[in-house]
Amino acid sequence: MTKLPSRTSETAEAVRSFIPVYEPSIGSLEKEYVNDCLDTSWISSIGKYVERFESEIAAITNSKYAVAVTNGTVALHLAHHCLGLQPGDEIIVPTFTYVASVNTIAQTGAKPVFVECRNSDWLLDPDDVRAKITPRTKGIVPVHLYGAVCAMSEIMAIAKEHELYVVEDCAESLGSTIDGKPAGSFGHCATFSFFGNKTITTGEGGMVTTNDDELAEHLRLSKGQGQDPNRRYWHDRVGFNYRLTNIAAAIGCAQLVRLSDILVRKAEIAALYRKLLSNQPVEFQKIAANVVSSNWMFSLLLPEGADREVIMATMKDRGVDTRPVFHCSHTMPMYFDRDAPSFPVSEKISARGINLPSYPTMTDEMVARVCETLIDAIHR
Ligand SMILES: *Cc1c(COP(=O)(O)O)cnc(C)c1O
Repeated sequence: MTKLPSRTSETAEAVRSFIPVYEPSIGSLEKEYVNDCLDTSWISSIGKYVERFESEIAAITNSKYAVAVTNGTVALHLAHHCLGLQPGDEIIVPTFTYVASVNTIAQTGAKPVFVECRNSDWLLDPDDVRAKITPRTKGIVPVHLYGAVCAMSEIMAIAKEHELYVVEDCAESLGSTIDGKPAGSFGHCATFSFFGNKTITTGEGGMVTTNDDELAEHLRLSKGQGQDPNRRYWHDRVGFNYRLTNIAAAIGCAQLVRLSDILVRKAEIAALYRKLLSNQPVEFQKIAANVVSSNWMFSLLLPEGADREVIMATMKDRGVDTRPVFHCSHTMPMYFDRDAPSFPVSEKISARGINLPSYPTMTDEMVARVCETLIDAIHR
């Protein structure tokens, strides 16, 4: 009972200074560029910002080509479509991922074949990739979750040996590197998302990158209804409308000006979390020594046996928002198969993992408040 008044005032405090799990940082340059689109009436999918955004993303990711699309999901779908994925084919994908990595395989009629992730960095386990290859396997989708990067040299070696294509899902890893090379510079294609909570945002937006001349052309034409660039309303292939608007790209161009500042601040926030939580019974996602993470979302496993729902609700009461990590795709109704193998590592991470607020405008004091709230909730 004595706790009641103090909890009420804590709640009032929480309402005043609620810390969301993410919040994009939008500056005056974004407004200036968007106004430029409106003032010049270049508001649709042709315009200088689309071209600029594409060439800047290509440069950052060491890619020859970048093709802007409506979001990160259609980026994946377009990649599979243009790489010729068909019904009956199989694609290897981690079960522990955001569902778009899996749905976009199923959307082509192909079958997602799930693999286990590693206990250390929660990413696709190359040994299990080898074990799941069949004569029908056409490709692999390594997903660089939360900014960590998959073991790309090993994965590319497997792909080469078995003549598989690789689409890197880089939705969470713009700015991440492995062995000094950017995430997205290894596979035949890589896809990016610029949703509101991603490292940089265009509201909704996405990109496909590649070094392959023919594939780049196929991606570019297919995203625009497959229209022949020299013959109006003549279509020589099945296409989509997956075009990004110049307005969205304008926001992206403005965001890219601050990309390195955003990455630096997110690295500081992650380092502070590690420091302030170092004595706690939690397990961080471990980043491999040759990887620099974009630190998209700071993620950890709660203590074994802890009630995640209660911890998250307790934190929310005190004004700190958190997220559970993704559910394993193999447990979802449309992918559930009672004869499928189990994935103990993925299931453990999925059951115990949470994301902490990780947006670049967080102050050190806010990070400290998140930690204090988490520690109190764990030891309650
Ligand atoms: C965000 C995300 C996507 C999808 O991107 P959208 O732009 O939201 O469609 C795909 N894969 C992963 C791993 C993501 O985090």
